[in-house]
Amino acid sequence: MTTVTGLAFPGESTVALREFDIPSPGPTEVRISVKASGICGSDLHSYIAPSGLRAPDGTTLIAGGHEPAGVVESVGSAVTGFAVGDRVLVHHILGCGTCDNCRRGYPVVCRSAARIAYGGGRNGGHAPLLLVEERSLILLPETLSFIDGAMIACGVSTAYSALLKTGVRAGDRLLVTGMGPVGLAVTLLAANMGVFVIGSDPNADRLAEATRHGLAHALSATDAAAELDALTGGFGVDAAIECSGAVPARLLCLEAAGTWGRVVYVGVGRQDLTFSPTDLVLKKLLTVRGSWVSSMAEMEEVTRLLARTGIHPDSLVSETYDLAAGEEAYRRFADGATGKLAFVYT
Ligand SMILES: [Zn+2]
Ligand SMILES: [Zn+2]
Repeated sequence: MTTVTGLAFPGESTVALREFDIPSPGPTEVRISVKASGICGSDLHSYIAPSGLRAPDGTTLIAGGHEPAGVVESVGSAVTGFAVGDRVLVHHILGCGTCDNCRRGYPVVCRSAARIAYGGGRNGGHAPLLLVEERSLILLPETLSFIDGAMIACGVSTAYSALLKTGVRAGDRLLVTGMGPVGLAVTLLAANMGVFVIGSDPNADRLAEATRHGLAHALSATDAAAELDALTGGFGVDAAIECSGAVPARLLCLEAAGTWGRVVYVGVGRQDLTFSPTDLVLKKLLTVRGSWVSSMAEMEEVTRLLARTGIHPDSLVSETYDLAAGEEAYRRFADGATGKLAFVYT
């Protein structure tokens, strides 16, 4: 057992540094010395929530953060795939490992009540030590930084999984709505594939940031439909990925897609959307899909792909903080800071 100082969310948009006991690894567990921990929109929900982020008992505060990367510090007696000193990133959803969805590599849709998230049920990466199951780990190649690893652990693999579902190829036109961290990651990956990426976001600063990561065209807010017509010769985009969860953006993706188009919804939003399936889906032979985080295999695949191609998602990070500045970091993020924020530990 080692006690460390980590960042907790007591509730009502507050953060607090707390002492956390991180046990030595059980037989199938690994303890990680965390080097980087991303801040994600999902963490913001915990930060804002009246009750903050607590263990399943509803009382105990836990360390937040679900995008960790670091170095294996100690391993349990039954761990065979990883050793002390290995550089790793963590898939933040821990499923039961045995249900049909876990067997498909999708712990995010695990059917068991045992499904839990690091930084969402048990301690996460906003602390310098993190205890995880071996099966949650992915090896981080030497050529990628720890911040690269933290980006892959949630946002980049989420973007990659959504991008795969669109089936876009070089030269295709892709609309991306919402230029938060996931939209930026989609833009970075797609632009590097040779895809013509068209972006939409009500925040001009976010569009400007996306342009730095390969966005080919930023839609103006005034007449997106006419602009899309002009850009696509009236054919519509080949595919669209909705990353904001906002109702107008969800509708825009359906409207912008041409015949045979593919639309992937990955941004979380709770408002209902009303549209005509006959005109927008049926008569356009559209494919509409949902996407949520990624499979273990996709996360591993995008890690290797980035290492091979030399694309560094740490370029998406606009600000880094140490845990002591956690309050400022979360305030900045909640206020709509552009790019991605992350904690780094020395
Ligand atoms: Zn996340
Ligand atoms: Zn499961």
